[in-house]
Amino acid sequence: MSYAYDPTNIFARILRGEIPNKTVLETPYSLAFEDIRPQAPVHVLVIPKGPYVSYDHFAREASEAEIVDFTRAIGEVCKRAGVALDGGNGFRAVANAGMDGVQEVPHLHVHIMGGRDLGRMLQPAG
Ligand code: AMP
Repeated sequence: MSYAYDPTNIFARILRGEIPNKTVLETPYSLAFEDIRPQAPVHVLVIPKGPYVSYDHFAREASEAEIVDFTRAIGEVCKRAGVALDGGNGFRAVANAGMDGVQEVPHLHVHIMGGRDLGRMLQPAG
């Protein structure tokens, strides 16, 4: 079965310029912008411009140029946000996927969060 990308998702609309965003970085294959509901002092979303639902979709089907660009974009966002380890205090990179990952927007996005101690990664199972 192939991955099903919904082109009406909100990040696709941002990429088409239909919805505004606070851009942090734009590269040939990637866009980074401020999360609209920040959960930390630094909360930036990095997305590929291509139609990928999730990280596994991207990792399997994106071109090498897209993968290199996206990875470098994440590095540049960390640097610009002051959370990279060559000077900053660190960050968490999160890519939720699907139902169990509790993914809200079905276009791959990596959350870069930092600017405070973020605590443990997961809540204990309840
Ligand atoms: P996830 O649960 O990993 O799919 O996260 C989706 C993220 O997208 C959430 O942190 C939302 O706050 C964020 N978000 C939703 N709509 C927008 C928007 N228009 N601009 C920026 N961030 C958004």
